[in-house]
Order: sequence, then C-alpha cells, then structure tokens
Amino acid sequence: MSAASRRLVLAGIALLIGMIATVSIAMVDTRNHALEAARTETERLAKAIAEQTAVAFRATDIVIAAFRDEIESKTYATPEAQAAGIVTKEFQKELDRQATLLPQADAFTVVDASGHLSNYSRRWPPPHLNLSDRDYFRYFRDHDDRGIFLSKPVTNRGNGLWTAFLARRIDGPSGQFFGIMLGAMDLSYFRNFYREVAQHENLAITLVDRQGRVLASYPYDLPPGQRPKNLTAAWDRALAKPHPSVMTGPGLLDGSARIISVHPLADYPVVVNVSVSASGALAGWRQQAALTALAAVFAMLCMILLFRAIILQLRRLERSEADLARNSNTLSTTLDHISQGIVMIDGQGRVAVCNRQALAMLDLPPGLMASNPSAETVFAYQVAAGEFPDAEEEHRYRGSLYADKPVTYERQRPNGRILEVQCVPLPDGGVVRTYSDVTERRQSEERIRYLAHHDPLTQLANRTLFTARLEEEIARANQGAHRLALLYIDLDRFKYVNDSHGHGAGDALLVKLAERLTLTVGFGPTIARTGGDEFAIILPLDGPQHDASHLARDIVTAVRQPLEIDGNAFRASISIGIAHYPDHAKSASDLLRNADIALYEAKNEGTGLVRAFDAGMEARQQALFRREQDLRSAFELKQFEVVYQPILSTVSGCVAGAEALLRWHHPIHGLVPPADFITLAEKLGLIEPLGFWVLETACKEAAQWSLEIGVAVNLSPVQVNSETLARQVQQILERTGLPPHRLTLEVTEGLLLEPNPTVLSTMHALRALGIRFSLDDFGTGHSGLGYLRRFPFDAIKIDKLFIQDMVEHADAAAIVNALLAVSVELGLEVVAEGVETAAQLEMLRSRQCQYVQGFFLSPPLPAAEMRLFVLEPRPFPSCPDPVLAAEPPAIRL
Ligand code: C2E
Ligand code: CA
Ligand code: CA
Repeated sequence: MSAASRRLVLAGIALLIGMIATVSIAMVDTRNHALEAARTETERLAKAIAEQTAVAFRATDIVIAAFRDEIESKTYATPEAQAAGIVTKEFQKELDRQATLLPQADAFTVVDASGHLSNYSRRWPPPHLNLSDRDYFRYFRDHDDRGIFLSKPVTNRGNGLWTAFLARRIDGPSGQFFGIMLGAMDLSYFRNFYREVAQHENLAITLVDRQGRVLASYPYDLPPGQRPKNLTAAWDRALAKPHPSVMTGPGLLDGSARIISVHPLADYPVVVNVSVSASGALAGWRQQAALTALAAVFAMLCMILLFRAIILQLRRLERSEADLARNSNTLSTTLDHISQGIVMIDGQGRVAVCNRQALAMLDLPPGLMASNPSAETVFAYQVAAGEFPDAEEEHRYRGSLYADKPVTYERQRPNGRILEVQCVPLPDGGVVRTYSDVTERRQSEERIRYLAHHDPLTQLANRTLFTARLEEEIARANQGAHRLALLYIDLDRFKYVNDSHGHGAGDALLVKLAERLTLTVGFGPTIARTGGDEFAIILPLDGPQHDASHLARDIVTAVRQPLEIDGNAFRASISIGIAHYPDHAKSASDLLRNADIALYEAKNEGTGLVRAFDAGMEARQQALFRREQDLRSAFELKQFEVVYQPILSTVSGCVAGAEALLRWHHPIHGLVPPADFITLAEKLGLIEPLGFWVLETACKEAAQWSLEIGVAVNLSPVQVNSETLARQVQQILERTGLPPHRLTLEVTEGLLLEPNPTVLSTMHALRALGIRFSLDDFGTGHSGLGYLRRFPFDAIKIDKLFIQDMVEHADAAAIVNALLAVSVELGLEVVAEGVETAAQLEMLRSRQCQYVQGFFLSPPLPAAEMRLFVLEPRPFPSCPDPVLAAEPPAIRL
C-alpha cells in the first residue's frame, strides 16, 4: 500500500473514531439532556402535585383550624361547660357539612382531653370511643404545640378505608389541654388524584410522611403506613430535607432505576415523591439514539465504502500514475535519445517538452526550460541572446509559433549551424517543433553542388557549369545588347607531357595553367576546364574591349613563361580559338562549334597560335574533317606508299643509303605530302600503326636491295615515347631479315625536351641491337647542341633551311660550318638535307660534309626505282670529280 493510501486509511479510521466519538458524545449529551428534561419535568410535576396535595391538606387543615378556633373562642366558665357547648347536634351538623364539602376529608372529630369523642361528623351522638392511645392524642396531651400533627395511616374502623388524621390541639381557656380537633383524611383521595395525573404522565407518585411511611401511592399499591422496602438512605435524607430535591435511585416497587423528585410540603409533614423510570425518560432519547446510531452506522458504512472506493480509486490512480510516470520516463528517454531536437508548446503557450537535443541545438539554458516557461519567455530569451540576425528571422520564428498549418523552414544559428525547423500545429492550439541539424547535409550538398559544377583538379568550372553559364551570358548579352567572346584553349602536345613525364606532371601542368589563366583573365569571366587539356573562357564584351584577341595573346604569353614541375623546367604552349556572339553564332551550340573550329585551325597551323573564327574557317574545317575521314580509311584502301630518297656520300659520290618517306595517294587530291597528314595522323592516333607499317615496309624493301646500304626511317614522337618500340622494331627486323646495323631511326629534336627515361632506355636498347639514331632537322629546335651530349645519337641531319641559305647567307654557312665542326668533335656522322643545287653540294663537299640528300641528287623514289638506283650506282649529276664516282666506298649509312 502506498503512503498516500496508508494516510487515507488512517484518515478514514480517525474520521470513524471521530464520528463515533462525536455521535457518542452527542448521544450522551442528548441522554443527559433527556434525563435533565425528565428531571425538570418530574420536578415540575412533583411541584404541581405537591401543591395540589398541599391544597388538599390545607383545606382540611383550615376546617380543623376553623373548628378549633371556634371551640377555643367559646369562653365558657368551665371546661365542662365548654365541652358541653361542643357536644351539640348543631356542631355535629357543622362538622358533617364541612366533611361533605371536602372530598378528601372523611370526617371531622372533636376529642376531649380524656380521649373521648366529643363530636363526630358522621354520627350523632358520637360513638363511645376513647382515642387516648392514639399517637396524635398522646403527642398533643404531652406537647403544648399549636402546630399540626399527622397520624400514621390506619384503616378506618368505620369504612375500612386507609385514613390519616390531621390533628390540632385545642387549648382550654387557660391554655390547658382541652382536646384535639381531628380531620380524617381519606388517603384514597390522593391515590385517586395521583392516578389521574400519573395515567397521563406515566409517573409513579407516592405520598409519604416524613418517616417514609406510605400514605398513598400510584401506580404502586404499597401498603400505607409502612416504609417501602426499597427506601434508601439517600431517600431518607431527601425526605428529611426541608426543600425539594431530585435523585436517581431504585424505584420503590421493583428497584429499577428511576428519577425521583422528592418534594416535601412546606406546612405539612408529608413528602410527595414523583418518579419516572429512567428507561421511560430515556425512551425518546433511546429511539432517537437508536436512529442516530443507525444513521451514524449507516453514515460510517457509507464512509467506509466511500473510503474504500477512494482508496481503490487512489490505487488505480497511483497505478496509472506509475504507468504514466513509466511512460513519461520512457518517453523522455526516447526523446532524449533521438537525434532531433523536440520542443512541444501546449495550448496555453507553455513549453511542455524540450528534449536534450533541443537544449543543445538551441543553446537554451536547462534551468529556464525545466521551469515550464512560456514560449514567449523563451522567445524573449533568444532575442536577447542575439539568436535572430534580423527582424525578418524573428518574424518568421513568431509566425511558426502560431501557424495553423505545418511549416518547415531552415535557419542558420549565430554559431553557423543550419537547423531545419518543422512546426506542426496541434489540435489544442499547441505546436510541436522539431529541429534537425542539417549543417553537414547542407555542406555536403554544397560540396556536391560544387563538385557537380567544378573540376576537382583545377577548381575551375566544369563543362556542366560552363554550359549553363554560357546560356546565362548569352541571355545577358541579349538583354544588354553587348557582345560575347568564347575562347577555346587547348594545351599543345599535352599528350606528350603526360606520356613522357607521367600523369602527375600532366596534372600539375594543368593546375599551373589554370592558375595562369585565372591570373591573366581575372575572376570575373567564367573560366572552365571543358576537357582533358581543354579550357574555355566566356568573356562578356560589355566593357571597352571589343574583341578577345588581345586577351588571348596575353594568355598565350603568360602561359609560355617557363614553369617548374617536380623540380623540372617546363615551357607550355597553348592554342586558342575565339568565336564571338552574336557575330559568329546565334546560339550557344553554334558559338561552341565555331570556337572549336577556330581552335582546330590554330592547332592545325602550329602551336601557341590564336585564331578568331571567320567564315572561311568553316569551309576549311569541313575540308579538314573530310581529310580526317579520308585518312582513317586510307590505310585500308592502301593509299599509302613508301618512297625512298637516296643519301649519297660526298666522298664516293655513290649511294650510301636512303630515307624512307611516306606518301598518301589521295583519290581526289592526288599526292598529299606528309606535312599535310602526319600531324593529323598523330592527332587521330593513327601514327603508330602507320609508322610501324612504314618501318616494316622500308625494312622489307631495304632487305631486297642489292647493296647492303642503310635505310633511314622517320619516327614520330609518339612512337619514340612508346615503351613497346624496342620490341616492335626488333620483331620487324626479325620478320624482314634486315640486319639491325642497316637501320637508322630519325627523330626530331623537338620531341626531346628532357632526357626522358623511356626515350633514353628505348634508344639504348635499340642501339644495343646495332640500330643507329640520327637527329633530324638539326638546328631548327630550341635546345641546340646540348642534345647531342644527352642522347646517344650516331648522326645528325642538318636541316634544309640552313643548306638552302648557306650559299647566299654567310650566317647560315657559319651555322653549317659550326655544326660540321661539332659533329666531327663528337664523332657523329652528318647528313645535309635538301641539297638542291650544285653550289650547295660543292660547298658541303668542300667542307667535308660526308653525306648529302636532296632533289639535286635524287628526289624520293618509288620502291622499284630505288631498287634500280641501288643496282646502278650513279655518280652525282654534276659531279666534277670522276674519282668520286669511280670508287664507291662501302657505306652503311
Ligand atoms: P624530313 O624527315 O626532313 O624529310 C625530308 C623531306 O625533305 C622530305 O619531304 C623530302 O621530300 C624533302 N626534300 C628532299 N630533298 C629536298 C630538297 O632538295 N629540297 C626540298 N625543299 N625538300 C627536299 P617529305 O617527304 O614531304 O616529308 C616531309 C616530312 O614528313 C619529313 O621531313 C618527315 O619529317 C615527315 N615524314 C615523311 N615520311 C614520314 C614517315 O614515314 N614517318 C614520319 N613520322 N614522318 C615522315
Ligand atoms: Ca627525316
Ligand atoms: Ca629532315
């Protein structure tokens, strides 16, 4: 049982005890009151009865006294005379008349001094009777008492009725005892009177004398003249008292408890006892008490039932409270363990629930929230704490407090966290507010959005963002009626950087490039990386600038500045194509295409070039495109041919070898020179198969030649960078049966920016087989003589530019001289290319240039012609020295 139930039970018991006590006290009190009332009533009745009794006595006594006075007033000379005066018939009649008048008086008698009847109201003459033995006679004879005397009751000798005598002394003229005046009191008179009274009042009335002898009684039938057996000492004392008293004592008849009013008569020695039985006096009370007790018992029963019901209810309440507490505990534990912050505001606007997360998320003081504050108080606190950056935010918060529809919004707290607030109104006018920290989500969304629109490497806009921006800028240009330039940028020979230096270096180069673009262009225009090594810039021409060429050239210059990657110096180069809106295109896609065409053109023309789109470009572009298509199919259509340009020795004047040169027989355009399609083939990725086809064809052809002279094959940089080159070459040699020492591989210096490990190891591997390397177009590249030390070359080919200029230009001749001198120093063979005149040949020969190649000596020859050329060694066309022609040396160039 719970403490509350226990308390309730104790309270119930206390209440019951209190109730019993109160009822008991009330009952005792009403009992006392009933007894008191009975006493009072008994007293009142006793008084009335006593008065009435006294009246009866007094009336008799008055008659007695009157007769006495009359007798005494007759002054006779002698007592005898006096007596004689009394003993008369008239006197008897008077006595009788008086006796008849008083119902209580049975008879009046005059007794003389000797005790004889002098007169008697009943009879004339009076009977002979001596009463001198009677108590009243003796008393008055012996006592000179003017008072009254009451005899003890006796049965009347005449009629047998119980009688008591009232007596007074009659004095003689000289005061001597003359006789007695007697009044016989009929005691049945009193009994009858008492019967009258007692019948109505349910009383017991007893008239006794002072000695306690019964005179008359009703309803008891006590024998007169005797003291009742039950007369107690207390009663005796009460009888002796001069004034009335009330006592409770045993009844005279049966000893049952009674309320007894003892009322002595003042003038007569009798006492009226009026009693009611205590039980009778309490009958009303008892009934009332019984009813009260019944009501109390009923009330108590009701109370017990009520208490029982209350306790049961309490228990149920406690149980449901416990359940509630358990549920509430479960609920608050649950609320505290969910990731969202929850605040519930009840219909009275008070915060009924605020979980731990909400406290933490909103930085609310736990003390405040535990006090069940009003939402307004919390709001005021938040405003004071600077929670809301502006009035609008405050307004929004307030609106959400009183919204009648679900509201969801986000707000950023001063600490930077982003909260998603969901407000759901409740039917009672309250609201549940749910807080979710969406900072990470928003950040990652932001990050995803960023990644979706940016290139992770360079952090520039990606193609998606670029396309969107382009549309936007076009719309803006339309609105502002200004022009727009689109710059397409392509990194020259990026593939080479990637292949030769690894992707790390390639990436680093792209990053550096992006930096330089941004530095040059600024942050205003959109700069995007649209592909591997492709970039684009959207340049709104809404300022003073009218075209983008200046900027493009600045970019090219900026990019060309040397840069360092992994400790190595690089020199990057870019090509730029530009198209203008709306000049060159009416839509974004057209603009893109045209910028691309311009870029293509720039790339086609070389490196580091800027080209703006023009109308003719498109036609050229289309031609180029067709050429690409043609080139792709040329291989299968067997439109390629390898021709061989003989290389002659200036010493012997005989053929020392030949350079294999590729030819494309285009069905429409006829013979397309390699310069027009080698770059294209490189771009299209066709150069490798094509290159190896040339190699295999040339080796096979050379192996057929009747002289064991060398054959030189040009390698594209792509091939040289290939790790499989050495194996491929070896396989080709094996297949064709050409001895390795007869093969020379020509590479251009331009490709060898750095001592690339792949290139170097390939060269060493091939040289180990006996294959030779010659440096092609020597003199035209950037790096000069340093190459000759760094790479294992066997020969150099002096570019035709120098050869063609050397006769007329002293500087070209000087360069050729220097190159020849250096090659001698380095032990390299030298081939002079592009020898077109006898003068050139002569000059070279005079400077001990060993080998010559050029139209003056022989154009590139188809294979069949070359075979003939080898078969019939011809001296130089205008060779002045027949010796040379006569002694063909063993050449293995
Ligand atoms: P190259 O390696 O410098 O080849 C020599 C070029 O000079 C050839 O041009 C040849 O016809 C030309 N030539 C020869 N004698 C004279 C002369 O006296 N005067 C002038 N002006 N030119 C002369 P071609 O065949 O048009 O080849 C051009 C370039 O194409 C070659 O320059 C070479 O770099 C490349 N090439 C040719 N065939 C191949 C090949 O099979 N593979 C590779 N990768 N490149 C090739
Ligand atoms: Ca060559
Ligand atoms: Ca060359």
